[in-house]
Amino acid sequence: MIDFELSPKIRATKNMVHMFAENAIRPIAREYDEKEHEKPWELFKMVQKVMGSMMGGGLGGGEAKEEKPEGGEKKPRETNLMTAVTVEEIFWGDAGIALSFPGGGLGGAAVQASGTPEQREKFLARFSGEEPCWGAMAITEPEAGSDTANIKTTAVLDGDEWVLNGEKIFVTSGKSALEDSKGFVVVWATVDRSAGRAGIKPFIVEHGTPGMQITKIEDKMGIRCSDTVSLSFMDCRIPKENILGSPEVMDKTKTEGFKKVMATFDATRPMVAAMAIGVGRAALDFIKEALAEQGVEIRYGISPNRMTVLEREIMQMEADLKAARLLTWRAVWMLDNGERNDLQASMAKAKAGAAVTRITQKAVELMGPLGYSRECMLEKWMRDSKINDIFEGTGQIQLLITARRLLDFGRDQLK
Ligand SMILES: Cc1cc2nc3c(=O)[nH]c(=O)nc-3n(C[C@H](O)[C@H](O)[C@H](O)COP(=O)(O)OP(=O)(O)OC[C@H]3O[C@@H](n4cnc5c(N)ncnc54)[C@H](O)[C@@H]3O)c2cc1C
Repeated sequence: MIDFELSPKIRATKNMVHMFAENAIRPIAREYDEKEHEKPWELFKMVQKVMGSMMGGGLGGGEAKEEKPEGGEKKPRETNLMTAVTVEEIFWGDAGIALSFPGGGLGGAAVQASGTPEQREKFLARFSGEEPCWGAMAITEPEAGSDTANIKTTAVLDGDEWVLNGEKIFVTSGKSALEDSKGFVVVWATVDRSAGRAGIKPFIVEHGTPGMQITKIEDKMGIRCSDTVSLSFMDCRIPKENILGSPEVMDKTKTEGFKKVMATFDATRPMVAAMAIGVGRAALDFIKEALAEQGVEIRYGISPNRMTVLEREIMQMEADLKAARLLTWRAVWMLDNGERNDLQASMAKAKAGAAVTRITQKAVELMGPLGYSRECMLEKWMRDSKINDIFEGTGQIQLLITARRLLDFGRDQLK
């Protein structure tokens, strides 16, 4: 049964992480937004030391671990719930800095979701060390974004090595992963284009592999502290065992391997929703504090026809945020309990992405010119919010997935 009360352990961690976000992240948020391609190294080193192990190898969600019974009492599993609650707090501090934190990111989550025990041991253990370390995932190509089946990067087996050729764009933390001596990128490539999705496989490409290079570093609207790069692969040779999952292409209708990789997103989409909620809450907290300072009181519980426009707006923002949080916690609760959560993960991401873009935009509007000024953070939160509705599947794609699952339609029936 879902329990909406957070455990004492999660509450204590949430409070601790909030203090960290408020005192160590928020004060430098504007600075690292302005200096887009620089990193707060001192903060990263501290994060790696203090929180690396706690975050389960980054912000990408983790395997639900069996909680040890204490005094014979079985505790509920809450690894992913803990991560979602923590992610909300850190992103309340700042989205750009939080997104560029050391950790496995999407790459680590892919190894977690479809790696062998040996691969997990080899690649995930790196994130619990003392030195900052990054993972990344490269799926998107110039002609393949939402339509991942259109991926053109190829992987050809040549003796004991896979040879990768192709181009990837918009890889989050790609620069960090390539510059880090323990970093890696999980690259999606096709071993057989005629097989469509069944032919697409993820491959782990380690830092320093000849043939992999950065071709562009993006200048972005928001989350500017987080690096985003294009990568090219030219006869890039990696060990045969660096494929995630089976190399077999069964037949065009059997896409189990692809589905397993897509399961990465069942763990990470709720975390993106939690990121969005953190940014939305930052904006809402700011607005409510500013209104309180001006002596404006929000009268909860009065009849809707007596509310001011401002009260209605604030309550709508709060309701959107709470709905997004409930969907998110539901999705991670299911993950922690080993239940299939693809529908709930998409619903949470769709709701949270839409909510945060609306909330931050409204917040700018409600504060008038100050909302648009760099004097306060609202304009930044508005810029930082939009990405939640884009990466790891756009808002439209999440709604499409949701509709397919609710109606029990296949890909071919609802496009
Ligand atoms: C800052 C940033 C970081 C990123 N990080 C990563 C990363 O780490 N790794 C990675 O692989 N990718 C990453 N991406 C890429 C991101 O995942 C893609 O941009 C996203 O999946 C959309 O793909 P696209 O840009 O090709 O848009 P398209 O797929 O071309 O879509 C364009 C528009 O059409 C809509 N649309 C498309 N198909 C449908 C449909 N069937 N029904 C309704 N609407 C539809 C979309 O919702 C969107 O609004 C990142 C992007 C950004 C901006």
